[in-house]
Amino acid sequence: MGKVTGFMEFDRLAEENLPVKDRVKNYKEFVLHLTDDQAKQQGARCMDCGIPFCTTGCPINNIIPDWNDLVYHQDWRNAIDVLHSTNNFPDFTGRICPAPCEAACTLNINNDAVGIKSIEHAIIDKAWENGWVTPQINPNKTGKKIAVVGSGPAGLAAAQQLARAGHSVTVFEKNDRIGGLLRYGIPDFKLDKANIDRRMAQMEAEGVTFKVNQNVGENVSAADLERDFDAVILAGGAELPRDLPVPGRELDGVHFAMDFLTPNNKMVAGDTVPNQIKATGKHVVVIGGGDTGSDCVGTSNRHGAASVTQFELMPQPPEKENKSLVWPNWPLKMRTSSSHEEGADRDWSITTKALIGENGKLTALKGARVEWKDGKMVEVPGSEFTIKADLVFLAMGFVSPVQKVLDAFGVEKDNRGNAKATTDGEGCYKTSKAKVFAAGDIRRGQSLVVWAIREGRQCAREVDAFLMGSSTLPR
Ligand SMILES: Cc1cc2nc3c(=O)[nH]c(=O)nc-3n(C[C@H](O)[C@H](O)[C@H](O)COP(=O)(O)OP(=O)(O)OC[C@H]3O[C@@H](n4cnc5c(N)ncnc54)[C@H](O)[C@@H]3O)c2cc1C
Ligand code: SF4
Repeated sequence: MGKVTGFMEFDRLAEENLPVKDRVKNYKEFVLHLTDDQAKQQGARCMDCGIPFCTTGCPINNIIPDWNDLVYHQDWRNAIDVLHSTNNFPDFTGRICPAPCEAACTLNINNDAVGIKSIEHAIIDKAWENGWVTPQINPNKTGKKIAVVGSGPAGLAAAQQLARAGHSVTVFEKNDRIGGLLRYGIPDFKLDKANIDRRMAQMEAEGVTFKVNQNVGENVSAADLERDFDAVILAGGAELPRDLPVPGRELDGVHFAMDFLTPNNKMVAGDTVPNQIKATGKHVVVIGGGDTGSDCVGTSNRHGAASVTQFELMPQPPEKENKSLVWPNWPLKMRTSSSHEEGADRDWSITTKALIGENGKLTALKGARVEWKDGKMVEVPGSEFTIKADLVFLAMGFVSPVQKVLDAFGVEKDNRGNAKATTDGEGCYKTSKAKVFAAGDIRRGQSLVVWAIREGRQCAREVDAFLMGSSTLPR
């Protein structure tokens, strides 16, 4: 523990954000990491409380009290080693993790949680600045070949772990760039894509081969992968979006969120994107209150939308949670993202009844207020309203993986259409097909980057044990 009285002396300090008026002019990251002195002080707030609930709150069990202490003592070199011992990509999580660890922090019971994510961000940025993130090349090759289908955080984490165990790993990605939703879902202003590129370079040096434009089940056959590789990991994500079957769904101007976000990321990457959906000067309504909806808000504001409104079906959560009831679990409470701060009218308990148009083009959204009684949604009589809309983005989550890739391998599915595989006990991460494994959103359903990294790492261990009889990779 760095400073015994640190938690009493210092307040939690948020990372500095560039002003809204400047940051909405471009797609650059705007969250500045803590300075050395700030990080030292924030590290000093950690009480090293004996039972580190933060470590269990973190899906990859980052050893948080240890690196808090190391940062307090300005021992950044060891801090990155401890951080990397559980997390392949703190550059991603230090930027975009919702930080369930902080909800579980003991200081959070009656004070503000330690700024764990901001310290993680500072550690990894310092490590890159100092050249401490280098390839870890295993000179002892096993001669085993593994195919990873999908290059999101689950596929990348699995590939890196397996390459470091001495296996020959090839990542097959259907898109034209590597990274999954890190690349083509999450906007650049939350995660600069240079973060992915430098990890790719590290992994290539470690022996991972990346192949893009390889749609397994379409232009690459599943049978070929099963024949040519000793093991296959399915890490294709959960890409099937939830639709909104209301009158007017077919109107020009109604789009799934990803049809807006993905082309925008391509445009930012320098691609020419024909017929890109532009929110410039338009009245935008985003349906769905999660991360994807929030990213539509931030992107619409950067396009220069005339107005941005976001509707959520569920009731408005409380401003603050009742900590004695929920701690150390992730609480349901009002969350305002940096995109919301940039400007959006938000409303809750709203259902969409119809989308209205003229000559096939969307002009408005007809909605109504709802109440939840005994778990059932009931429309509030007389609450119907119409709001002007040139664009509606459907951001109501993802129902399952695209079934085609699962069917191509013939793996068994669970009742939600995910690849069926357990995460506990013998044979975990194994699908019903011999030598085919599954990890990340394709197995657990729509989730978070940090959970994908966890599953990629754990799955890698199972694959290693399957191929070699035992594994020294961390669980
Ligand atoms: C817009 C948006 C914003 C988000 N923001 C956050 C956030 O801020 N923080 C957070 O923690 N989480 C966020 N998430 C969730 C997070 O991105 C996902 O949970 C995570 O990326 C899942 O990782 P994955 O590796 O399982 O799958 P993905 O990241 O979805 O990657 C799967 C990859 O597999 C490829 N693939 C699929 N099928 C095939 C095939 N047949 N052949 C070859 N390749 C294939 C896909 O093209 C894709 O590249 C967000 C999600 C979205 C949609
Ligand atoms: S990965 Fe997420 S949950 Fe884990 S320590 Fe970092 S911010 Fe917290």
